[in-house]
Amino acid sequence: MLSMNKIEAYDVIVVGAGAAGMMCAAQAGQRGRRVLLIDHSQKLAEKIRISGGGRCNFTNLYCGPEHYLSQNPDFCRSALARYTPRHFIALVERYGIRYHEKTLGQLFCDGSAQQIIELLRSECEAGQVTWRRPCEVHGVVAISEGFRIATTQGQYHSQSLVIATGGLAVPAIGSTPMAYQIAEQFGLSVVPPRPALVPLALESEIREHLANLSGLSLEVEISCGQGHFREAMLFTHRGISGPAVLQISSYWKDGDLISINLLPDMDTQTWLAEHGTSRTRFDNFLAEVLPRRFALQWCELHHLKKPVCQYSPTQLQHIGKTLNNWSLRPSGTLGYHKAEVTLGGIDTQELSSKTLESKKIAGLYFIGEAVDVTGHLGGFNFQWAWSSGHAAGQVV
Ligand SMILES: Cc1cc2nc3c(=O)[nH]c(=O)nc-3n(C[C@H](O)[C@H](O)[C@H](O)COP(=O)(O)OP(=O)(O)OC[C@H]3O[C@@H](n4cnc5c(N)ncnc54)[C@H](O)[C@@H]3O)c2cc1C
Repeated sequence: MLSMNKIEAYDVIVVGAGAAGMMCAAQAGQRGRRVLLIDHSQKLAEKIRISGGGRCNFTNLYCGPEHYLSQNPDFCRSALARYTPRHFIALVERYGIRYHEKTLGQLFCDGSAQQIIELLRSECEAGQVTWRRPCEVHGVVAISEGFRIATTQGQYHSQSLVIATGGLAVPAIGSTPMAYQIAEQFGLSVVPPRPALVPLALESEIREHLANLSGLSLEVEISCGQGHFREAMLFTHRGISGPAVLQISSYWKDGDLISINLLPDMDTQTWLAEHGTSRTRFDNFLAEVLPRRFALQWCELHHLKKPVCQYSPTQLQHIGKTLNNWSLRPSGTLGYHKAEVTLGGIDTQELSSKTLESKKIAGLYFIGEAVDVTGHLGGFNFQWAWSSGHAAGQVV
């Protein structure tokens, strides 16, 4: 047991030195606050390092609340408006980090994600942030003037406590449910977390039919519930993946059907009606507009082996509809090991949208992925980490 005089005091303690935590610590430190930043991992910001295929898709030019899922879709509005992609781009440029737009407003480093980690580390240094890493947090208690934290490196006291421990995706690099546990300890509600931006598994029966398509990618329009995207879909040996599927996984719930438009630029019913007299076998005919390997397999799955002219106009109409609206019922997701983010988290009703402070517990803040704000694929999740980290960093 450490005696009282061994308790180090800070103005702010941030737990979790990921994207949001480092941004928040740097901002608070640069305002002159004495900041302690704690993380349990051996390696700094592994999630940033592996992000965007090692190049970190650090923001999106078209960032707006419509790119986020939350029980309160308006919650993210305030923080995103006050720290925008332009602000982060200006920071990236100040550090001389070269970047490019890949597609759909997605900005990536030309070099490596490590540059973003170094940027954040330097920003923390500019704020004279004190680090404790690797350091496990044993417990947090609220005391009359703030919080006391017990860790493997000693006890600390602070006026403000920021929880930036992220979600549950990729447990192998140090994700823990600490944010949810602390919320529970303080009586804050949590929207049940589930994996998102995650590949979807298919039932073995259909998987067998599609097995030799593994590695094949198609541009499709995909929808489920309120979600609707046009991006590439990839067949894998376990099911379906690629940007289109990762995006739609955030909208998919157990038992839901997803709808795939395989020919988004074609009115297939009219096209088939116009070629209704063709003597070409249906699968070869379809191979004129879709990758051959896919066309053959899809026709086998739907028993379409006859020449086009042997199908009645009604049958062709039905096939056309199916090509524009192929319904699949995934059997599940590939779980947190393969997910990029966690849906759900600290209920936004519990937090101020301006500061991310708990409405019930003064001085307690939750930022980043721990909060029930989840972005689409494409740099939106990092932008939420920067914006929410910045919002809290200005007031803690
Ligand atoms: C493979 C992959 C690729 C991705 N690519 C992109 C991309 O290109 N663009 C994009 O916008 N988003 C991307 N994301 C999502 C993005 O990485 C996260 O949304 C973002 O990192 C969340 O930031 P955060 O600070 O809230 O949490 P994190 O970055 O996860 O940081 C949480 C920190 O808390 C620490 N921690 C956890 N538990 C404890 C504990 N109990 N005690 C102490 N410390 C703890 C962790 O070690 C970690 O350092 C990707 C995610 C994955 C998994």
